[in-house]
Amino acid sequence: MTLHNFVAGEWVPAFDGRTVERVNPARTDEVVAVLPDSGPADVDRAVSFVAEHREEWSRTAPEARSDVLVRAADLLMARADELAVELVREEGKTLAEARMETRRTPQNLRYYAGEAQRSTGDTFPTGDGSLVLSVREPVGVVAAITPWNFPLNIPSRKVGPALAAGNGVVLKPSEVTPLTAQRLVEALLEAGVPAGALALVQGGGTAGGELVKHAAVDAVTFTGSTSVGRSIHRSVGPDVRLQLEMGGKNALVVLQDADLERATALVVKGAFGLSGQACTGTSRVVVHEAVADELLRRVRDRVRAMVVGDGLTEGVTFGPLATAGQLEKYRTYLGYGSEDGAVLDTVDEDELPGGGWFARPALFTGVESSDRIAQEEIFGPVLAFLRVGSYEQAVEVVNGTDFGLSAGIVTDDFRTAVRFSQDVDAGVVKVNQATTGLAMNAPFGGFRLSSTQMYKEQGGPQMLPFYTREKTVYFTP
Ligand code: NAD
Repeated sequence: MTLHNFVAGEWVPAFDGRTVERVNPARTDEVVAVLPDSGPADVDRAVSFVAEHREEWSRTAPEARSDVLVRAADLLMARADELAVELVREEGKTLAEARMETRRTPQNLRYYAGEAQRSTGDTFPTGDGSLVLSVREPVGVVAAITPWNFPLNIPSRKVGPALAAGNGVVLKPSEVTPLTAQRLVEALLEAGVPAGALALVQGGGTAGGELVKHAAVDAVTFTGSTSVGRSIHRSVGPDVRLQLEMGGKNALVVLQDADLERATALVVKGAFGLSGQACTGTSRVVVHEAVADELLRRVRDRVRAMVVGDGLTEGVTFGPLATAGQLEKYRTYLGYGSEDGAVLDTVDEDELPGGGWFARPALFTGVESSDRIAQEEIFGPVLAFLRVGSYEQAVEVVNGTDFGLSAGIVTDDFRTAVRFSQDVDAGVVKVNQATTGLAMNAPFGGFRLSSTQMYKEQGGPQMLPFYTREKTVYFTP
C-alpha cells in the first residue's frame, strides 16, 4: 500500500518523491507500506499550514471539539478488529495484543474528549474592586513524534489531548508503523478535525529532526529512545515546551514472602508481553536468594511453553521483533551477557520459524547489577535475574541504573509494599502488578533518564499545563 503525507489539507507524496518500504516483520518478503521519506520541505509546508490555519479549531467550542473526538473514537472502535490485523502485519505483535491496543485507543480519545470541556482557570482576590483571573489558551502548534511499539495508542495520547485543548498538531509517527498512524489521522479527519488543525508527516529521523527545530512549533511531545530524546532536548529552542517520554530499565522485585505463582505470571507478562518491546517492560527480576532457583524454574517453564511465530497465526503467543535492528540488538546483548559471565538459559534458536525477525525470550542468571545487560535498555526479550539477600539490597539494585520509569514488587506484606513505593526512584510503582500496563486517567512518566521532569504525559488535569498556556487578565470596571 502506498501511503502519503497529509499536508495543507491534501494527501501528497514527499516533496522530492522519496519513499521507503516497511515490510511485515513475520514475513520480510511482504511489503506492508511504501511511505514518504519526508524532508525539510514537507515539514515546513505541514507546520506552516497548521500555524496559519489552526485558529478555526482553537476557536471551536470545547463541546464541539469533544464531539469530534468522540466521533473519531467511534470510527476507530467500529474498525478495531480490522485495524488490529493491519497492526500485526505492520508491527509484529500478536493479534490479542493488537486487539487490546485498537480497543484501548478509542477510550483514550473519549477520555480527552471529556477533558476538552474541563479546562478551567482561577480567580484571584484584589482589594480595589478590580478582577484578576487566569484563563487557559491552546499553546499553538504541537509537534508529536512517536515510536512503533504502540503505534495507535501512543499517537492518540498525544494528538488526543493536543486537539482537545484546541491546538494544531503535526504528527510524525515512526517509519516502522506508518500505516497504523495514517488510520488514526484518517479517523480524526473523517470525524471532523479541520485540515488546518492536523498534519501527518511520514518518515524517519530526518523528518523528526526538522520538525522539532521548526520555528513555528510551540511544543514538542516525544516518545522514544533516551538517545533521540536527549538529542531533541539539545536542539529545541528555550521558548519551546518539551515533553519527553524515553527508555527504561524496569525491575520487578520478588522477596521470600511472595506468592511465587503470582510472581511468575507477573514476571512473564511484564518481560515478554509485546515480545519484550514495551517501555515499561520488566528487564530485571530482583529476587531474594531464598526463592531465586524456584522462581527461575517456574519462569523457564512458562517461557518454554511460549509459541513464537506470526502474530496472525492462531496459538502464537510471542510475535517477531519489529525490525532487523531490533533482532541485531537482541543478539548483541546476548553476547554482552555471556561476556560478563552471566549464564544464558534459553531455548535453541534452531527451533525458530524462518522468514521473519524471530527471537526467543532469553533468561540470564548470575547477573551482577553492574553488567551491561542489567544497566542498558535492550528493549527486547532479554530478562536478567539478579539475586539479593535483603529488601535493602533489592532497593539498591532497583535504583542502581540511570533510568527510573517503572518498578514493581510482589508481596503480601503491606508494610513492605508501602515502604517500597516510598523508597523506589521510579515514576511508576506497581505492587502485585506487572511493570507494564497503565491507567489512561493517571499521570505517566519516569524519573531521571526516562523522562523530562517538566511535564508528565496524559492523565486528568495533568494534560492542561503542557497543552495550554495560562494568561493572567486584569479588569478594572
Ligand atoms: P526512536 O527514538 O528510535 O524513535 C522514536 C521516534 O523518533 C520515531 O518517530 C523516529 O523516527 C523519531 N526520530 C528518530 N531520530 C530523530 C531525531 N534525530 N529527531 C527527531 N525525531 C527522531 O525509538 P523507537 O525505536 O521508535 O522506540 C523504542 C524506544 O521508545 C525505546 O527506547 C522505548 O523505551 C521508548 N518508549 C518509551 C515509552 C515511554 O512512554 N517512556 C513508550 C514507548 C516506547
